[in-house]
Amino acid sequence: MARYTGPVCRLCRREGIKLFLKGDRCYTDKCAVTHRGTAPGQHGKNKKKLSGYGVQLREKQKAKRIYGILENQFSKYYDNATAIKGVAGENLLRLLELRLDNVVFKLGYSDSRQQARQLVTHGHFLVNGKKVNIPSYKLNVNDEISVKESSKSVEKFKVFAANPKAVPAFLQSDFENLKGRVVALPVREDITIPVNETLIIELYSK
Ligand code: SF4
Repeated sequence: MARYTGPVCRLCRREGIKLFLKGDRCYTDKCAVTHRGTAPGQHGKNKKKLSGYGVQLREKQKAKRIYGILENQFSKYYDNATAIKGVAGENLLRLLELRLDNVVFKLGYSDSRQQARQLVTHGHFLVNGKKVNIPSYKLNVNDEISVKESSKSVEKFKVFAANPKAVPAFLQSDFENLKGRVVALPVREDITIPVNETLIIELYSK
């Protein structure tokens, strides 16, 4: 699946907030939002008031950028979210949260979703004991995610195992053994991304 390969800090500057796309660097003074703060490009310093459509568009762009998804795939998530019973906006975020790369990140086995995506693509993870190298793979309740036995000696994973991270309520983690489980469907309170999902649904339903 195609992905954005340009400079990621530019994406945060465009949205005017930290999207935490680069791991540790995002928490330092090197963060481009902290030390530049303006939108990229020649007219980046001129702040324009957004129209209603503009506000909705920015919410969608933010969500796409946080999860590292391009337009085609994102609109498929919208289609799926509206086909399921329940509140469409919450369904959309739930589907995005249950992507394998996102869960790997949330379990603390990577510094960023981008790194999680790379680790998944490189085949370091098993789902219910079987190798899965598709970052968008959709997890279900009770699925077990584990680092492949032969990958546990990789320095990066040793560091993650030694530095347990708090995980959201819909996940359970056994840091020592580098494995985790989806124990429930994520609810809105579990999803901390700064996005108004209702505006995204309004945008697509026009
Ligand atoms: Fe965004 Fe992180 Fe770059 Fe800051 S360092 S602009 S939060 S990706």
